[in-house]
Amino acid sequence: MKFTDLGLSAEILRSIAEQGYETPTPIQAQAIPLVMQGRDLMAAAQTGTGKTAGFTLPILQLLSTRSAGLSLKRFKPRSLILVPTRELAVQVQEAVRTYGRHLRIKSTPIYGGVGMGSQLSALKNGVDIIVATPGRLLDHIEQRSVDLSGIEILVLDEADRMLDMGFIRDIRKILALLPKKKQSLLFSATFSDEIRGLVAGLLNDPVSVEVARRNAPAEAVSQSVYHVDRDRKRDLLIQLIDDHGWHQVLVFTRTKHGADALSDRLAKAGIRSAALHGNKSQSQRQRALDDFKRLKLNVLVATDIAARGLDIDELPHVVNYELPNVPEDYVHRIGRTGRAGSSGQAVSLVCIDEHKLLRDIERMLKKDIEKKVVAGFEPDPRIKPEPIQKPRTHTAVKQTSRAKTSHPAPAARGKSRPSARQQSWR
Ligand code: AMP
Repeated sequence: MKFTDLGLSAEILRSIAEQGYETPTPIQAQAIPLVMQGRDLMAAAQTGTGKTAGFTLPILQLLSTRSAGLSLKRFKPRSLILVPTRELAVQVQEAVRTYGRHLRIKSTPIYGGVGMGSQLSALKNGVDIIVATPGRLLDHIEQRSVDLSGIEILVLDEADRMLDMGFIRDIRKILALLPKKKQSLLFSATFSDEIRGLVAGLLNDPVSVEVARRNAPAEAVSQSVYHVDRDRKRDLLIQLIDDHGWHQVLVFTRTKHGADALSDRLAKAGIRSAALHGNKSQSQRQRALDDFKRLKLNVLVATDIAARGLDIDELPHVVNYELPNVPEDYVHRIGRTGRAGSSGQAVSLVCIDEHKLLRDIERMLKKDIEKKVVAGFEPDPRIKPEPIQKPRTHTAVKQTSRAKTSHPAPAARGKSRPSARQQSWR
């Protein structure tokens, strides 16, 4: 299958060639023809599969063919792409701009954390495509600076993430404002009953498309666990970065405070680093991400929410400085590496408090992860496990039901867990 077999216009094929893409990825080969036929889609695909181009290219094709000779209407976009995070809004809109650079199609990202001014003027001048996070889109709806009655194509991107982040009510409100006759495309890594319920009345005779993750953890990503004491993680991380000459490392911490503290500590050790989390301003987050992509920073310390959907080409190393509370987040985290066919390395620093979390992850992966201990960092068997503090974030509150099942209360943990001495290193 070649891009030229998909029925895309010469202008779109030209921008694809300029990107250096030679063949469509499996999701693109499946989704592009269906979307161009006007079908509704329910696609199981996550970041790293090329899904963004999978919906962007046919949308550009459809809108540019249909709009020939039409002028843009003020405040009335024709396609809405809903995404969970600000970073993803920026990334997806950049993709729209890149693939549409030889077309007369206008687009704008709509997200919070920045002033409304430039978004307002873009909407006022008229745009074809908006890439929006739900909260800010609702702000514009309330201010009447956007009118969704002209939407021809809707995309819900990373729908599972949007629900995880508590956007369900916002999404329902937005969907209620869309015209009944439209094409709807749903992209999600997983399909829970909640998602199926959300889209039950939305999708019209949808085609299901599914692709395996390109970077299924077992294949493209080598995984290892370093056993280390809680208080020695920072020094071990610094040593690993120095010893191996890692130059682009995404490090995950459980809390925003932990991300800041670790980033400061790395900086003191002479490692160029920044923290990426929800308390940072949008411009700080964007600058950190840009600097990291350009290797002006070697380490980005991020929380799960901040890192969602980050598109960093061929990221070589991901470190779980702390294991996530939810096993699925482990897969999402290490999915940041080994993207688009390149190989990657995922390292987890695990202390005695986290052995249950590690077992849950291995159970989900259905395999044991290779265990290592670095000389000089051998865990002290006298150290007892301590309860893991849950992050006090907006999202953590909304995720309590998930967190509860995978993260027992401290009292229960104390009873059910073996003592430090009984723990084996496996
Ligand atoms: P996505 O899953 O949309 O986040 O895309 C993951 C990465 O794959 C992005 O960096 C894209 O630029 C890249 N990509 C998308 N389509 C192709 C393709 N056909 N060939 C090579 N790389 C691609």
